[in-house]
Amino acid sequence: MSWVTIIWSTIASACITLAGIYLLVWCRNRTAWVNLLFSLTAVAAAGFAFSELSMMLAETPGQFGTALRWGQVSIWLWTVSLVGFVWLYLKAGRPWLAWATCGLRTFALLPNFLVGQNLNYREITALRHIPLLGESVAVAEGVPNPWMVLGQLSLVLLVIFVGDASVTAWRRGDRRKALMVGGSVVLLVLVGLVESMLIFWGKVQAPLTVSPFYLCLVLVMAYELGRDVLLASQLVGELQASEAGLRENEERMSLAVDAANFGIWIRDLARNEIWASDKWRKLFGFAPSERLDLGAILQRLHPDDREGFRQTVGAAVAGEGRYEAEFRVMLPNGGIRWITSHGRVEFDATGQPVRIRGASRDVTADKQAELETQLLRQQVAHVGRVTMMGQLATALAHEINQPLGAILRNAEAAELFMQEASPDLDEIRAIIADIREDDQRAGSVIDRMRGLLKRQNLSTRPIHVGELVGDVRALVRVDAAARHVKLDVGVPGDLPPVRGDRVHLQQVLLNLILNGMDALSGASLEDRRISVTALLDGAQTVEIAVSDTGTGIPDDKLAHVFDPFFTTKPDGMGMGLPISRTIIEAHGGRFWAENNKSGGATFRFTLPIAEEAAAK
Ligand code: ADP
Repeated sequence: MSWVTIIWSTIASACITLAGIYLLVWCRNRTAWVNLLFSLTAVAAAGFAFSELSMMLAETPGQFGTALRWGQVSIWLWTVSLVGFVWLYLKAGRPWLAWATCGLRTFALLPNFLVGQNLNYREITALRHIPLLGESVAVAEGVPNPWMVLGQLSLVLLVIFVGDASVTAWRRGDRRKALMVGGSVVLLVLVGLVESMLIFWGKVQAPLTVSPFYLCLVLVMAYELGRDVLLASQLVGELQASEAGLRENEERMSLAVDAANFGIWIRDLARNEIWASDKWRKLFGFAPSERLDLGAILQRLHPDDREGFRQTVGAAVAGEGRYEAEFRVMLPNGGIRWITSHGRVEFDATGQPVRIRGASRDVTADKQAELETQLLRQQVAHVGRVTMMGQLATALAHEINQPLGAILRNAEAAELFMQEASPDLDEIRAIIADIREDDQRAGSVIDRMRGLLKRQNLSTRPIHVGELVGDVRALVRVDAAARHVKLDVGVPGDLPPVRGDRVHLQQVLLNLILNGMDALSGASLEDRRISVTALLDGAQTVEIAVSDTGTGIPDDKLAHVFDPFFTTKPDGMGMGLPISRTIIEAHGGRFWAENNKSGGATFRFTLPIAEEAAAK
């Protein structure tokens, strides 16, 4: 096979292959007309390459003329599709130039088929053979057809149209497209035009070899289109990745929002529309499809909270930009829910508020706990001391009765001594010293009691549990003896000190022992025992237990003994245990009750070891 055949066939097949590829691209995306137009341009270029090859291999003037005539059809398709391609690809160009180019080229088909042998030759008289790439190819000799001016004029118009469109695209900023596509169309069409004019007007005797230029043009166009397709697919990839990222973020966000028990909402201020998540709708008792606006939400708010809420939001919209509000929501089922709501206002460039975004959370449980704690604190403050007072007064009476009795007995003895003729002064001095000592003891008891009654705030310091129990034991000793209760204490001597408020802890122990004694009142005299024990519980805490051999606590009451005002005693107030538990919890400890297997109840509580001791 000759080189000419190989090269021109290769040009044609390259063009057809590219045309096929971009036809497929167009089939996948029917709106990408630019791909279809490129395919047509490439098909036309392939067609013209075949015509050129046929001319070069022609054996008679007739064959040459026919090849050229059909070559003009390819040029028509090529021109029209190229105009369309440039128009769409550069998104520029003057329509009248486009129409003129295509119109003229179409019109030129008439003389191509009707006048002479084809558009270029009125008559081909002979074929000459000249060498090309080592072989001999045919060249026509004959009378030029003046109508070919139409075709050449249409090519000039094409160059002007594309040049003008490229300038527009360049100015707009599409410099690469303007330069690559516009520049190469102008350049290669001009080269082809000049070559064909020289040949067809008989100035040069040479075969027509425009196809290689057209192939170059097709390659440039394909390269640019391919780049666009590649960029588009890259963009799609990035978009998918960012969409996936966005979805992931959304998932995480909604997970976090759900976990935090938040309902979220967005209020469009201009349209007075509110979008809210399902969670938020549940919080406020709105159905999923119910339309939301500010009026409907205000209606849900407790009447006492509405005005405050309106003012808070008003201030945020007026400029503060943020708000935080707490209010009650009246649910359709009659229930009340406490909600905290955080909002952030977004303003536009002119400073006008556009929308508010926010999150709301159900804080009913927190609120209840807060109210209960507040209540309990009040109970501790008001009732606690009063409740304890009766028991303390009894203890006080017993405690100071003893020194008072001793003082009385000593005073009587001193009187007796004084009645003697020569009283023993040393004896009297000793008696007076005893009286002073007893008096001081009574005074210190009263001081301790006063402290017990007055103090409310915790003032913690390291305390030895043995001493603490000893203090309380002293307070209840008389009472215990009177009620025939045996009080056992088992506190190891090496127990590390705890951190606590002495008086408050005395109050707790005292209450437990007095309760224990109450529970023993029905027991036989020899079975009335209370034991106070302490042991190390781990490295950080000490556990103290007060155990009795009394009635125990009925199982169904066990959960209630710490409830305020729970009492089974005719004169009880039911405040001792709840107050005690509050005190222990304020120390960072736990407090609980259990029944003993062998009968009776045990109350246990823990206290933190003093840091100094724990650090050792
Ligand atoms: P009260 O002043 O009524 O005794 P408390 O808070 O001290 O109030 O105790 C509440 C209730 O717990 C008591 O009425 C009693 O029913 C029960 N309770 C407390 N300690 C004991 C115990 N050691 N054994 C049996 N029941 C007890």
